[in-house]
Amino acid sequence: MASGKTALITGAASGIGAACAQALAERGATRLVLVDRDEAALRALELATEDVLHVTGDVADPALWEEVEALAGPLDHAVLNAGIGLGGPIAELSFETWRALMAVNLDGMFLSLRTAMRLANDNAALVLTASAAGIKPEAGNAAYAASKAAVIQLAKVAAKEGASRGIRVNAIAPGGVDTPIWDAMPFFAGLVEQHGGDRAAAIAAMGKGSAPLGRFATAEEIAAQVAFLLSDEAATITGTVLVSDGGYSL
Ligand code: NAD
Repeated sequence: MASGKTALITGAASGIGAACAQALAERGATRLVLVDRDEAALRALELATEDVLHVTGDVADPALWEEVEALAGPLDHAVLNAGIGLGGPIAELSFETWRALMAVNLDGMFLSLRTAMRLANDNAALVLTASAAGIKPEAGNAAYAASKAAVIQLAKVAAKEGASRGIRVNAIAPGGVDTPIWDAMPFFAGLVEQHGGDRAAAIAAMGKGSAPLGRFATAEEIAAQVAFLLSDEAATITGTVLVSDGGYSL
C-alpha cells in the first residue's frame, strides 16, 4: 500500500511508532522521516528501507519542525504518534506536570500536524495517535485524557481543512498496548513487583482487568491498523477515530 511513498513518523524509536516504521517499510514505503528524542534507539531500528532521515529532538520544539520542513521533502503519509503518560488526581496534579504533558501531547502534536499539513502531497493520508483515554474518562487521568481528546478534535479539524486536496486525516484511539510507555509509571512498577518481576504477567493482568476482550493490543496490531488507515483501502475514511481498545470504552 505504501509502495514508493514517503512517510513521517514521530515517536518512532519505540512501541507503536517503531512498529509503524517497520510496518510501512515492509509495505513498501521507500523513504522514512523518523522523529524521536531518543537518538540511540532511533538509529538502532533495522528497517526494510535504507532511505531514512533521523531527526532527533523534542516534538514540542518549533526548531525541530523547521529542520523537518527544510529536509523532509513532500510527504505521502504521516503517523503523528509521540506522546507521554503522566497522571494524578486533579486536586493533586501540579501545574508543572500538566504543562509537561501538554507540551508533548498537545503542543508537539500541533507542531507535528502543522508541518505534516504543510508538506503533504495531494491525496496524502495522516494518522494521529490519540487514546481511548480521550473518549472514556478515568479518575487520575485528567491531563492525559484531555490531551488525547484534543488530539481527536485536531484530527477532525485537519480532515476538514485537507479534504479539498484529497488529504485524509484520522485518529487511532488504542486502549492498552504492550509498549515501554508503561515502564515509566510508578503503579506499573508495583504491579510488576506483585507478579514476582514478571512484566508480561503484569501486562496480561491489566489487559484482563480492563477490556472485555481481556488483553492488551500489541504494537504490531496497532501499526497494521494505522497502515490500513493510510492505505487506499481507506480512501473514503477521513475525520474518524478508529477505537482499538478490546471493548474497553464500551
Ligand atoms: P513508547 O514510550 O513506547 O513510545 C513513545 C516514543 O515517543 C518514545 O520513543 C519516546 O522517546 C518518544 N517521545 C516521547 N516524548 C517525546 C518528545 N517530546 N519528543 C520526541 N519524541 C518523544 O509509547 P507508545 O505506547 O508506543 O506510545 C505511542 C503513542 O501511543 C503515545 O502518543 C501514547 O499516548 C499512545 N497510546 C499508547 C497506549 C499504550 O497503552 N501503550 C494506549 C493509547 C495510546
